[in-house]
Amino acid sequence: MSATDTVEQQVAEANGAAEAKFSMELSDDQKDIRDWVHGFAEGVVRPAAHEWDEREETPWPVIEEAAKIGLYGFEALAQFFADPSGLTMQIANEELFWGDAGIGMSIMGTSLAVAAIFGNGTPEQLGEWVPQCFGTPDDVKVAAFCSSEPDAGSDVSAIRTTAKYDEAKDEWVLNGQKAWATNGGIAGVHVIIASVDRELRSRGHAAFVVPPGTKGLEQGTKVKKHGLRASHTADVHLDDCRIPGSCLLGGKEKLDERLANAREGKRSKGQAAMRTFEMSRPTVGAQALGIARAAYEYALDYAKEREQFGRKIIENQAIAFTLADMKMEIDAARLLVWRAAWMGRAGHDFENAEGSMSKLKAGEVAVWATERAIQILGGNGYTREFPVERMHRDAKIYTIFEGTSEIQRLVIARAISGMQIK
Ligand SMILES: Cc1cc2nc3c(=O)[nH]c(=O)nc-3n(C[C@H](O)[C@H](O)[C@H](O)COP(=O)(O)OP(=O)(O)OC[C@H]3O[C@@H](n4cnc5c(N)ncnc54)[C@H](O)[C@@H]3O)c2cc1C
Repeated sequence: MSATDTVEQQVAEANGAAEAKFSMELSDDQKDIRDWVHGFAEGVVRPAAHEWDEREETPWPVIEEAAKIGLYGFEALAQFFADPSGLTMQIANEELFWGDAGIGMSIMGTSLAVAAIFGNGTPEQLGEWVPQCFGTPDDVKVAAFCSSEPDAGSDVSAIRTTAKYDEAKDEWVLNGQKAWATNGGIAGVHVIIASVDRELRSRGHAAFVVPPGTKGLEQGTKVKKHGLRASHTADVHLDDCRIPGSCLLGGKEKLDERLANAREGKRSKGQAAMRTFEMSRPTVGAQALGIARAAYEYALDYAKEREQFGRKIIENQAIAFTLADMKMEIDAARLLVWRAAWMGRAGHDFENAEGSMSKLKAGEVAVWATERAIQILGGNGYTREFPVERMHRDAKIYTIFEGTSEIQRLVIARAISGMQIK
């Protein structure tokens, strides 16, 4: 556009640019994937949700079903990730978790380990370990990503699990205790974050694959949880757990170089790590959105059916306005999730921690909306006979894991201020 263009030319050009660059319309591919995942969530996941929540066990038959239709496996994840707009991964997660969050996490939990292998591994390591994370449709496996420890939650730099290199045998020896690991102990592949040099704190960390069946890795206590009960969470103990040298993700040469830089006080690639977190956060937000939307839809239908004082309860503004606010908050959260996903995929810098914003907003909306849904259902909402009670329990984890709400606010506050807010 130049100063000599007529207004008509400028408008026409601006319209053209808008058409090419911005659209809220989903593509046919995105709609197809949304409908495919929704169909599975509605037909298979939802009917099984109550049972597996009560059993507090991994729903292996549902994971197997997902694997049979190609929804559980690396190909599906790669297909979701391939979308250049960044939205397909979010759309798929929202639909699956709309079905049920506990089962959703049983299906998607493996992707935490896959993302760590993807982010840190060499192409050979990807080829070797990623297929083993999923197994095959006839012999399905899950994988676990183990970073948190009893004394290292929000403060990841406090990790105490050690990895020592035994040069004579070209093996790494892992010792320590991991906490809260999704799929911990029941996984085939475990990805372990361990310290190779504690003085360097998080700059001395490295990621290791512990192959299936390795001696010295044992499941500890299985956690009995408030929500997400179909997803297995447990401690993992590493007791002189020996793994081949090749299981260090990224390889020894790269690690030695990184450690040498850290010891010399050279700048770290902390920005790169932060970017990885910012890119993964919208996906977690999308899961929370799925729960929130499920609770909203259930409450809306209920409010249109339930009668008190001779009219539907939705005919009272108190109820109708609550539903209006629920819809608005969920849509607002989705826009933040989609924006951050698009930014990540398009290579934009997260200058204001937009990834953290998306996860924070979606998590808090999910907790609030599911609580409102219980209120709209009255006494029924408080019972296990109606799904909003489970949804509320499931939603709460989204203000805690993958960075608590306080930590997300810290990240945003630091990004907008450029200061070391404590
Ligand atoms: C169901 C479930 C599944 C999980 N899955 C995994 C997994 O697969 N892999 C894995 O590695 N981990 C996993 N986690 C662990 C999870 O990531 C941690 O629970 C989370 O990071 C918080 O750590 P913490 O529980 O130790 O809480 P803490 O870090 O002890 O925090 C306690 C409170 O203090 C606040 N706080 C801490 N530091 C600050 C600060 N600087 N400023 C303000 N407030 C602060 C927190 O926000 C929180 O409110 C899972 C946890 C759960 C419950």
